[in-house]
Amino acid sequence: MKKNSNLRELMGYAGGHRYLTYLSLLLSAISAILALFPFVFLFRIIQEVIAVAPNYAQATHIVRNGWMAVGFAVLSIVIYVCALMSSHLSAFRIAGNIRKALMAHIAELPLGFIGETGSGKIRRIVSDSSAATETYLAHQLPDMSAAVTTPVCMIVMLFLFDWRFGLVSLLPVILGFAAMFKMAGPSMAEDMKLYQNALADMNNEAVEYVRGVPVVKTFGQTVHSFKRFKGTIDSYYEFVMSYCKKCRPSMLSYTVLVNSAFAFLIVLALILAGGGPVLLNFIFYVIFTPLIATAMTKVMFMSENGMIAADAMSRIHSILDVEPLPEPRSGKVPTDNDVVLENVTFRYTGGITDALRDVTIRVGAGETVALVGPSGGGKTTVAGLISRFWDVAGGSIQIGGINVKDIPKETLTDTVAYVFQDSRLLKASILENVRLAKPNASRQEVERVLHEAQCDDIIQKLPQGIDTVIGTKGVYLSGGEQQRIAIARVMLKNAPILILDEATAFADPENEALVQRAFERLSKGRTVIMIAHRLTTIKNADCIFVLREGRVEESGTHDTLVAGGGLYAKMWQDYQTSVSWKVGAAK
Ligand code: ADP
Repeated sequence: MKKNSNLRELMGYAGGHRYLTYLSLLLSAISAILALFPFVFLFRIIQEVIAVAPNYAQATHIVRNGWMAVGFAVLSIVIYVCALMSSHLSAFRIAGNIRKALMAHIAELPLGFIGETGSGKIRRIVSDSSAATETYLAHQLPDMSAAVTTPVCMIVMLFLFDWRFGLVSLLPVILGFAAMFKMAGPSMAEDMKLYQNALADMNNEAVEYVRGVPVVKTFGQTVHSFKRFKGTIDSYYEFVMSYCKKCRPSMLSYTVLVNSAFAFLIVLALILAGGGPVLLNFIFYVIFTPLIATAMTKVMFMSENGMIAADAMSRIHSILDVEPLPEPRSGKVPTDNDVVLENVTFRYTGGITDALRDVTIRVGAGETVALVGPSGGGKTTVAGLISRFWDVAGGSIQIGGINVKDIPKETLTDTVAYVFQDSRLLKASILENVRLAKPNASRQEVERVLHEAQCDDIIQKLPQGIDTVIGTKGVYLSGGEQQRIAIARVMLKNAPILILDEATAFADPENEALVQRAFERLSKGRTVIMIAHRLTTIKNADCIFVLREGRVEESGTHDTLVAGGGLYAKMWQDYQTSVSWKVGAAK
């Protein structure tokens, strides 16, 4: 039932090309029937040889029958090629349309979804899962049509020639399937679930292990972290081994039985032990029955192929079924640039606790505020919510007095610019990378913002200046350099509200100073919300919000907070100690 609905859905993506898929099924079935004809002519040849023996010179039809066999074999191949051609035309169209549908949908989804799902996983679904449907439709489906047609015709033929031999050559197939059925009973679904779980555990632990490598290296915890990973590998190994052992008898019986039709035929031939006709039929069936094994094995894998295609479809749906955030019907455009979060509560999908609880933050137009606090406090979440990567669960976020939910997406993107810590640049020229923010910007405009974003030294050292393509041979930029280019891009966009995520680490102080200066230029005359890691950079902020465990623990200017003696005061003290320690160490 499910498989049919998957197929119907796939055909929906084919448009007018769906008839090509149906045509390919028909052609493939015809080709399968034609492929059996050479055996008929082979039968005639053997028949003639036995009839005239030992005066072989009297056998005059051998050559003609031989050519007929070759002719049908060639015809069958030609028709199969035609079947594949039409199935491919349709399959490529379907996979292409699925990719387009996915990309169009992803473009509608909030950035939060991309962040939570991970761009790697999304890429795999867009490219690999759609490719899986292509393999299924282009190859497996026509092969399935042939795999069903062949045994049906064979059974007809087997009985047509000599029903006794026919029956006997089917016997091993029936027994083989009975053996298989024992294996594939209801316990199989349960075993499959256990198998998937063991596999998932192992993968998760592998990821955790790799993620923990820096910690492991620093603190030398090799044994402990490796133990858990090894534990999951061991249990996976044990499960797979015991499962294999469980399947072994059935699989063995099946393989032996379907390939041993000749043994059954010998027994029957000995029992019948007649003259010419029995020998003739015996020879024919010995040649013919191995085809049964091939056809049956194809039928067996049919359900597996169907499962792979169904899995691909469910992955595709894991993206297509995600609803975009609701767009306002009559969008409002904010006229002021103040940002107000009022009693905001938010929890991530799958999160056990609220990432933010009752958070109130007010930022006047043109002000600069800083978000600080321990890791996991909620700084990134606040920044993401202002850009509407997700919608709040409770409370509201307003820009210029208008709820962000009522601001059309394009307007919001033009109003709020987010400078990420790890701003990615595309493999394109610097000019094109900056122009992404404003496609119709002139070259002079781009040069101006690059200059303002302190990028002169970068441009100078590049072989083709701003036309140099990043990521080509030998052209790599450091993290700080990339961030300056990203700042130039945001400058070009000219959004009145900025969210800046300060980089946590810089390789060299010179880069750090340049990025700071670029940030300062960028911030001029704009409302700025800054996620700060280095406390010196925010001493002059209009207000500092200290977030801990999803709440605003305290807020105020640098001086009032230091005087208050709370968490910020402690952080400031620690920070100064670490800075003086660094300076001391450098001496
Ligand atoms: P900060 O930026 O201050 O380090 P975050 O805003 O990133 O803090 O995180 C706030 C809380 O939300 C943390 O408890 C964190 O574990 C949780 N969190 C962050 N991102 C996700 C996510 N994608 N899914 C589930 N929980 C998350």
